[in-house]
Amino acid sequence: MTRPATPTSTTGAPLVAATSAPSSVAVAGEPVLAVRVDQDLCTGDGLCVQYAPEVFEFDIDGLAYVKGEDGELLTSAGASVLAPAGCTRAVLDAAELCPGECIFVTAADGSVVAGPGAPGT
Ligand code: SF4
Repeated sequence: MTRPATPTSTTGAPLVAATSAPSSVAVAGEPVLAVRVDQDLCTGDGLCVQYAPEVFEFDIDGLAYVKGEDGELLTSAGASVLAPAGCTRAVLDAAELCPGECIFVTAADGSVVAGPGAPGT
């Protein structure tokens, strides 16, 4: 399976952070991506933690969760974070390779970029 180097919208335009993006983690030229994990599907194998430890971490239950900029795990259902600067590729790879198919990555416009429901999946 191949994926474009830069995620694109349904119009084919690249999804990149604007210099005035609302998130402090957004960097011009990098896509603004929201990431969440569905723990009901997580196998606990740890691939995501290996790929992007800045974003994913295990909790005591052995399942992966996203974590905030302060390192705190976000354990509420459906919690999401923005991928920090420099983690875009790792997050996309983790979502694409996640054996539980439970990492959801969406762009600023709400379109699914990687994980279940992404184009080509
Ligand atoms: S890669 Fe997917 S299935 Fe594996 S620990 Fe991470 S979220 Fe869970």
